[in-house]
Amino acid sequence: MKDLLAPRHRPLLDGLGARRTLFAFDYDGTLAPIVRDAARARMRAATKRRLVALASRRPVVLVTGRALADLAPLVEGVPTAARIGNHGLEWEGEGLPRCDRAVVELAAPRVAGWLDAMQPLEALGIRVEDKRLSLSLHLRGASPLTRDRVHREAVRLPGARLVPGKEVLNVLPEVGLDKGSALQLIGRAVGCEALLFAGDDVTDEDVFTRSVPWPLVAIHVGSGPSAAEYRLRSQGRIDELLDALLLALDRTEPAAAASE
Ligand SMILES: [Mg+2]
Repeated sequence: MKDLLAPRHRPLLDGLGARRTLFAFDYDGTLAPIVRDAARARMRAATKRRLVALASRRPVVLVTGRALADLAPLVEGVPTAARIGNHGLEWEGEGLPRCDRAVVELAAPRVAGWLDAMQPLEALGIRVEDKRLSLSLHLRGASPLTRDRVHREAVRLPGARLVPGKEVLNVLPEVGLDKGSALQLIGRAVGCEALLFAGDDVTDEDVFTRSVPWPLVAIHVGSGPSAAEYRLRSQGRIDELLDALLLALDRTEPAAAASE
């Protein structure tokens, strides 16, 4: 994977600045550091400042596995074009419905059934998070034996797609919507000409591997394998990426930059 911040990729960034590019970012592990208590996963003030600056100039989409209601307080004040939650099953933004009703009708009762089946795992110290359209089984602190048991039980859930994440097993309904297809849909709705997406986890691969009808700059955050073409070595470098994008906008819109 290539380092997008290397000087030789400056023309690529300028190309993004010159087009109507949709700038999309995963939240946990990408915009905000991973922390033990997910409710406290805040962006650094410096990151938020840069993200707001970018979002006030270009369409920014936040893409998360969290339920949107859970994301909202963490990104207050960021003027996003759209937000995608629940790994692609929930969306909101101007001109967009909150979700696909047909998907909700399929997914919600299925997830409710899984919740009943998985709740006994809480006795083993597994937190079963009900996100209404998907479940998250939180594995932090669990022994290898317990993790095995969680996997064995989750695999038996009908109509489920299991996506492992960082200290979590995501249980998603197979309904033909993921982060990749949701971004494609929103890209079409806003008429984008290019897409940048940065993400750190397994469900972000759904974006990296989806063929979209626009040039895609796919950035994997952190170490480990990924289908993304570019890598940002750690979450700590997200501010450098945002700075590079803002500078590319300045270079490609000199008049707008001068008036700011
Ligand atoms: Mg993430």
